[in-house]
Amino acid sequence: MSNVDAAEIAKFSELAHRWWDPNSEFRPLHEINPLRLKWIDKQAPLAGKTVLDVGCGGGILAEAMAGAGAAVSGIDLSEKALKVAKLHLYESGRSVDYELASAEDFAARHPGEFDVVTCMEMLEHVPDPASVVAACARLVKPGGWVFFSTLNRNAKSYLFAIVGAEYVLKLLPRGTHEYAKFIQPAELARMAREAGLGTRELIGMTYNPLSKIYRLEADTDVNYLLSAQRGE
Ligand code: SAH
Repeated sequence: MSNVDAAEIAKFSELAHRWWDPNSEFRPLHEINPLRLKWIDKQAPLAGKTVLDVGCGGGILAEAMAGAGAAVSGIDLSEKALKVAKLHLYESGRSVDYELASAEDFAARHPGEFDVVTCMEMLEHVPDPASVVAACARLVKPGGWVFFSTLNRNAKSYLFAIVGAEYVLKLLPRGTHEYAKFIQPAELARMAREAGLGTRELIGMTYNPLSKIYRLEADTDVNYLLSAQRGE
């Protein structure tokens, strides 16, 4: 298992017990969740679909997709995060199939099995994101959808996502993100195309620190989402 940074997994594992506390380090994930859920559901209506959430963490998105009527599986390499995810199902009464696996390993065992694959806020934590993108493409059925989100790489994203979010506003712990691992939308689009995916929609996600409101809009300078579809 090579495409994993043990320090990244340790970072998420250490905080995992607070994953479902909406006022914890995971607050941003809770706040953006309704936005991304709606964006996914609009393009690939989730009810009745089989969905895999890659890098699911404590299951914030996975559970919401299950709530929208999908049959959801979630994989991650943090044992602690998965433990929290599984425990939370008792509280929510929802059902998600969680498994400790890398995207590449899971893809070798479950090729072409899913209508939808999501991989959110994860690519900027792995050594070789193109390999994860290729695994997502392998996991989805022909004609199926893949949804990514990550952080752009430029002076503004450094200022907003690292200086602003970690040091000034303290929305995230220091060291959450590493600038060198950020991915420009054109780079992600190329990884997707090289994996046999056709890109569909690129949209930005912005945060207004005064209103404390996240929005989806055209500005992809910092956070962004990209949807793609596997060829038939
Ligand atoms: N996708 C979730 C969680 C994002 S946090 C959400 O958006 O709500 C990033 C997650 O990626 C963490 O749970 C971390 O353990 C996981 N992760 C990091 N590197 C990984 C890898 N190489 N393989 C699988 N999961 C990984």
